[in-house]
Amino acid sequence: MKTAIIGGGAAGFFLAVNLKEMMPEMEVTIFERAQRVLTKVEVSGGGRCNCTNSFEDVTDLRMVYPRGHRLMKRLFNVFDYQSAFAWFEHHGVPLITQDNQCVFPAAQDSHAIINCFLTLARRHQVQICLGRKIQSLDALQDYDFIAVTTGGSPKGEGLRWLADLGHEIEQPVPSLFTFQVADKSLTALMGTVVGQTTVMIPGTKLHASGPLLITHWGMSGPAILKLSSYAARLLAEKEYKLPVSVRWTTARDSDIENILHETMRVHSSKQLPTFNPFGLPQRLWAFLMTRSLADRWEVRWHELGKKDVNRIVNILCNDTYQISGRGTFKDEFVTCGGISLKSVNPSTLESKLVPRLFFAGEVLDVDGVTGGFNFQAAWTTAYTVASAIVSKLS
Ligand SMILES: Cc1cc2nc3c(=O)[nH]c(=O)nc-3n(C[C@H](O)[C@H](O)[C@H](O)COP(=O)(O)OP(=O)(O)OC[C@H]3O[C@@H](n4cnc5c(N)ncnc54)[C@H](O)[C@@H]3O)c2cc1C
Repeated sequence: MKTAIIGGGAAGFFLAVNLKEMMPEMEVTIFERAQRVLTKVEVSGGGRCNCTNSFEDVTDLRMVYPRGHRLMKRLFNVFDYQSAFAWFEHHGVPLITQDNQCVFPAAQDSHAIINCFLTLARRHQVQICLGRKIQSLDALQDYDFIAVTTGGSPKGEGLRWLADLGHEIEQPVPSLFTFQVADKSLTALMGTVVGQTTVMIPGTKLHASGPLLITHWGMSGPAILKLSSYAARLLAEKEYKLPVSVRWTTARDSDIENILHETMRVHSSKQLPTFNPFGLPQRLWAFLMTRSLADRWEVRWHELGKKDVNRIVNILCNDTYQISGRGTFKDEFVTCGGISLKSVNPSTLESKLVPRLFFAGEVLDVDGVTGGFNFQAAWTTAYTVASAIVSKLS
């Protein structure tokens, strides 16, 4: 029995070594178009590979898998993050979980994972054919099973041959990117970090919370990356030209008003920009006061009128900027879209159109936010395919 795996990335290797461990007599060949394998694993997580997450803060998989949360829930019954954690440790890669729930190799080096895969592939005699771009099944007639693990294809060209076989394709668009904002007065605050914000696309329910970083091109940080993932499709449709609204504080609207009134009473003679009751970075606070009160921004607290208070509340809760384009995020970038989940059996990931053809990894319409969720999807889907191939033979 022979299995061909198209793509020598995270999902391809995980599938190959698991299939060999489950069924040593299976001949497994990985076809990789490039001259090197596992290149994304190498650069992932800033070279440290954030290979999974403890999921401790995840109460609903929709939070971390904007596409594919139902499929992941189903497949986690068989191979979840705990299984992945145990798998790596069992195969000689000790892991550590950071305070933010992200899991990395204890060696803090993605080569720990790469070496593990390469050693196991060698031990199990997995054939690796480099420089072999596969875009049809014709060259693989000799194989009993074929698994496509070609990863994301943001421009969609890598999916055309799979569409020609009858698979439905969810239009691929980028996910996990930063926002360009043309407003120079905001970008002048580059380097400013606000620990807890909520960012949203006005007029929609799309929102995300977390730290926000002001950069020289616009906005970045976990809150923005998450929003870019939730709103990936809408942003692409609108050509990355949409408003984004920032809530700069976690205080409730009514509490914000109370804090402002209290400050007006207790610190009445202080100038507005010099006394900041919300713990925001001082430069940002002064900037927000100019946005609220224009040239009156240096007034003293006791000089504020009712309308001024309303304007300040509004800016703190709903400060809107125009997104002017998409920036890239240097550490992570994934594709939203790919092979539609309607075209695969959700328990085995076998194609509903071509028997014995399977899909795993980012080629599927499954993608997650930052934090190790994308690799976890690759491990889970690859393990599912390995098990499904073995069950077909038993
Ligand atoms: C810079 C960066 C950092 C990242 N960091 C993290 C992180 O820390 N944590 C996390 O969870 N996720 C991270 N990701 C996302 C993660 O890398 C991917 O989700 C994951 O690699 C997907 O695995 P895959 O095997 O499906 O695809 P890939 O790892 O992309 O592998 C696909 C392979 O298929 C090959 N291929 C494509 N087409 C063909 C073809 N026609 N014939 C033959 N070979 C083909 C490609 O050359 C490639 O080697 C990061 C992504 C990037 C770009």
